[in-house]
Amino acid sequence: MLIFRKPVEGVERPQMPADVVIVGGGPAGMACALRLAQLIDAHNSAHPGSQLSKENIYVLEKAREIGQHCLSGALLDPRSIRELLPDFEKDAPLDAKVVKEAVYFLTEKSKFKFPITPPFLRDHGNYVISLNRFVKWLGAKVEATGITVFTGFAGSELLFDGDRVAGVRTDDKGVDKEGHQKSNFEPGYDLHAKVVILAEGPRGSLTKQLIQKFDLAKNANPQTYGVGVKELWEVPAGRIAAGEVIYTLGWPLTPHEYGGAWIYGSPGSSSKDNVVSLGYVTGLDYADPRLDPQRVLQDFKQHPFVAKLLEDGKMIRYGAKSMPYGGWWAIPPVAGNGWMILGDSAGFLNSARLKGIHLAIKSGMLAAETAFEALIKDDSSAATLSGFQKKVESSWIKEELWKVRNLHQGFEHGMYAGMFHTALQMITGGRGLRNRYPAKAGYEHMRKLAELPADGGAEAHLLGPAKGDGKLTFDKLTDLYHSGTKHEEDQPSHLVIHDTNICNTKCVKEFGSPCQNFCPANVYEMVEDATQPNGKRISLNPSNCVHCKTCDIADPYQIITWVPPEGGGGPNYDGM
Ligand SMILES: Cc1cc2nc3c(=O)[nH]c(=O)nc-3n(C[C@H](O)[C@H](O)[C@H](O)COP(=O)(O)OP(=O)(O)OC[C@H]3O[C@@H](n4cnc5c(N)ncnc54)[C@H](O)[C@@H]3O)c2cc1C
Ligand code: SF4
Repeated sequence: MLIFRKPVEGVERPQMPADVVIVGGGPAGMACALRLAQLIDAHNSAHPGSQLSKENIYVLEKAREIGQHCLSGALLDPRSIRELLPDFEKDAPLDAKVVKEAVYFLTEKSKFKFPITPPFLRDHGNYVISLNRFVKWLGAKVEATGITVFTGFAGSELLFDGDRVAGVRTDDKGVDKEGHQKSNFEPGYDLHAKVVILAEGPRGSLTKQLIQKFDLAKNANPQTYGVGVKELWEVPAGRIAAGEVIYTLGWPLTPHEYGGAWIYGSPGSSSKDNVVSLGYVTGLDYADPRLDPQRVLQDFKQHPFVAKLLEDGKMIRYGAKSMPYGGWWAIPPVAGNGWMILGDSAGFLNSARLKGIHLAIKSGMLAAETAFEALIKDDSSAATLSGFQKKVESSWIKEELWKVRNLHQGFEHGMYAGMFHTALQMITGGRGLRNRYPAKAGYEHMRKLAELPADGGAEAHLLGPAKGDGKLTFDKLTDLYHSGTKHEEDQPSHLVIHDTNICNTKCVKEFGSPCQNFCPANVYEMVEDATQPNGKRISLNPSNCVHCKTCDIADPYQIITWVPPEGGGGPNYDGM
């Protein structure tokens, strides 16, 4: 029987007072902590008589080490990091400055270069980075200020005092598969905080709790997402320049699906090789439940253009992560009584540019300024923290996102309609046919098998698992091995399925169990079971999970909730 993870009841938990708790040590959370430290230091030197302490400011990060769970393309638009650390170029881990960019439309065998690079994909001035190394570097700066970063600690629940967010409960450690306490059991801490800042990245689990509890998304468009499946390759020198950037649209996706690929070049560790970051982002609003985003990447690599680039190379890393696509209209209120939401958790991502790092950093900085005001006034009510909402709305975050506010919604009816709307939106400052295009949640686009051609029709080549030739293409388990994923095996499943009957009786028949396809880590399996009406039963391999959150997002019945596993477990990204 499957037992799902939940905080252990009836135990006494250590209680800790805190001024500020930041949940999530990605670019948003780390930038927030660093900016807050800068403001406190400046205040303390100007006001020797009224010192503020940094001792009770904490960052919680579920990864064992800082940056280990961060995955991105990644190109860094340096706008915000320059505001935070004007001389960042001196010591930040920047792999290469962008020197060349191109955009292609791919058909199965050919490629067509866009005669000009669309303005939003112009990357001169940006840097190729590895996000997890960049965040490690930023995290070291945070620790140097005296702020404590608790790695291996996940925020597992929000604590409330009436309608105020009053703190965060961290994960219980040492709970076995059946939910019993093991000899090394340690209950999670209750951190009672004046200000709780959620910087959990896309589809944050505490953010989801908060949004549901206060129905925060009621006036926003439903958030929509894509999942990026990524591999790092070492290729012979000369294949791609360090700082060369390639975007592609089209193959293997058809005009019915939303998505595209990136290829970024950076110098390798030896002079003989280059490292290529490549990946395919598939919009999680496709119709056919048999589609498999990991396979999409494998098909993409077989295109002659990509296969040639990778020939004689070696795949060295793998990972996957979701990203919010919904844009400005999908952003819920980002501040309230005792809380603020940053970065991808809020939806600050420019999907036209495939960029969110600079927005995550900027939102972290603005939240820090607001938290600082709250500490000075000793008031973290909605009246003070709503200052963050105002700061976002009068900052370049809004200016940038406003221009692409309708972009993804324009593709609701496929690529051709999407291109028409994009062109119109570009001439009208993001407006297009109306100021606010509506949107449906991505999972609502998924269709039942009975409504789709049995042979897959135009999508046939995208369906089912990739087999892999072991050289250019890989099956999921081989890919997964290169993500370094590890969890404590003896713990309850952190993929919480609210009703497994739906999996075994309805979903298997209606949708053919799409979790087996959309999960890029083989976590979900339908195993033979003669006692079940359809002869199959859901089975989980939670230790494979790379924390991409796709299942929480894409499940057509919305019965899966991703909760953090025991802190420290997850992928071990390096160079991603
Ligand atoms: C495939 C892909 C390619 C991308 N390419 C680019 C690009 O080239 N350029 C660009 O600018 N942007 C890119 N982005 C977007 C960019 O990576 C994000 O916008 C950015 O990382 C968001 O930062 P964040 O701090 O909000 O979230 P994240 O980077 O997701 O960081 C969140 C952190 O919080 C931790 N966490 C989550 N929940 C908890 C919890 N409950 N308790 C404790 N810790 C928790 C996570 O482990 C993680 O370390 C890409 C995204 C993807 C997925
Ligand atoms: S179980 Fe869910 S979160 Fe984990 S890898 Fe699979 S789809 Fe992603």
